[in-house]
Amino acid sequence: MENIVNKKVCGWKNLEREKKDGIFSFCDKYMDFLDEAKTEREAVKLIIGKLKNEGFVSILEKDTLVEGDKVYYNNRDKSVFASIIGKDEPTCGVNIIGAHIDSPRLDLKPNPMYEDGRLALFKTHYYGGIKKYQWTAIPLAIHGVVVKSNGERQEICIGEDSQDPIFTITDLLPHLSQNQNTKKLSEAIDGESLNLLIGSIPDEKNDSIKENILNILYEKYGILEIDFYSSELEIVPAFKARSLGFDRSMVASYGQDDRVCAYALLESLLESEESSVTKVAIFADKEEIGSVGNTGMCSESFDYFMNKILNLKNINYAGALNEVYCHSKMLSADVGAGVDPNYQDVSEKNNASFIGYGVELNKYTGSRGKSGASDANAEFVAYVRGVFEKNDIQYQVSELGKVDIGGGGTIAYILANKGVDVIDCGVPVISMHSPYEVTSKYDIYSAYLGYKAFFESSEKVKY
Ligand code: MN
Ligand code: MN
Repeated sequence: MENIVNKKVCGWKNLEREKKDGIFSFCDKYMDFLDEAKTEREAVKLIIGKLKNEGFVSILEKDTLVEGDKVYYNNRDKSVFASIIGKDEPTCGVNIIGAHIDSPRLDLKPNPMYEDGRLALFKTHYYGGIKKYQWTAIPLAIHGVVVKSNGERQEICIGEDSQDPIFTITDLLPHLSQNQNTKKLSEAIDGESLNLLIGSIPDEKNDSIKENILNILYEKYGILEIDFYSSELEIVPAFKARSLGFDRSMVASYGQDDRVCAYALLESLLESEESSVTKVAIFADKEEIGSVGNTGMCSESFDYFMNKILNLKNINYAGALNEVYCHSKMLSADVGAGVDPNYQDVSEKNNASFIGYGVELNKYTGSRGKSGASDANAEFVAYVRGVFEKNDIQYQVSELGKVDIGGGGTIAYILANKGVDVIDCGVPVISMHSPYEVTSKYDIYSAYLGYKAFFESSEKVKY
């Protein structure tokens, strides 16, 4: 008897002990990844380290490509493309899964350091869609690089070790908040007041706190004030990823959008069985600010990588790359919005994702009348459903929120514009873009299984 009614059940229900243990140990490693990779640069380092361990080599070192070859391309230490070459010609289509490894945060301005109110501070410029009030009065760490004009690169990570100092952005005491309390939430904290507190001891000779801090920076890292011009220093929450709930069923952490999908993708690529179709993984930068720049997916650096694959396989005719794209399939591995019990009114519950109910498919994104949407074709949705159902992977199909309440997009449309069949497929998140995002371990593991099955699938979409 077919299931006439689409009954949605919690993934944890009737789960065998062994499977549950597997999910929990997978997520223990995921939480380590979150703690080690709080920026796109750190994620690239970890991802390439793991790829190399599994036999991947830089595509720039290859002069030919054959079935079974494993290659990657490091795009300026901020994004990575990786591929396992299949038996079939890439022009028959490849299986792509793409996640992003940048997350909302605060960047330091190029002239960050100043002294005011007898304290030393750093000016910041926020990156991505943050709610500014969430970034005050929490412990913050500084991650990134400072590059000297001679090209020397100094990596910085302060605030993660328990012996390290941390930093914070102060907030107004309630006793004196009468004016602030009357402001709109979006205006209560000003972008220019997101200043990071970094020191308070004046220099013995000239009384300058700023100079005292500069002395410390010079002694410890050899950095001069002018070197901030050529730095990328990111302010991120200093707390660690933790299991959430008495039942430990969830993960709370900074940066799960979209490193949760990036991690599931990396593991799925490494664990996937051999298949005839070439597998391609994208770990993109700059998604949170519109996929712009030469490390974002709007850049042609991905075409460069795909063209390299074609060239190394001696497929050099004009239009070969279009041939690849127009026959390819892709999961845009990005997070969705899980229903938040505290804010249920933004979700239309028949078409919302619930955390713990499996990996989420978003047929389309966009806002208002599907403006800016990447809308997957029914035939392709059917294909992906088929892959998941055959492999017993629990999934849910949803929208971001109620119609006309807001909206959003991912990298899906960029590949769809090239001719690829694309659907958004990821993990539902609660408190998205906050310093402490919440996911379900069940969904994380379902995403991993879903990505793996998609990579291994070799059928054609039936049009
Ligand atoms: Mn995202
Ligand atoms: Mn995002």
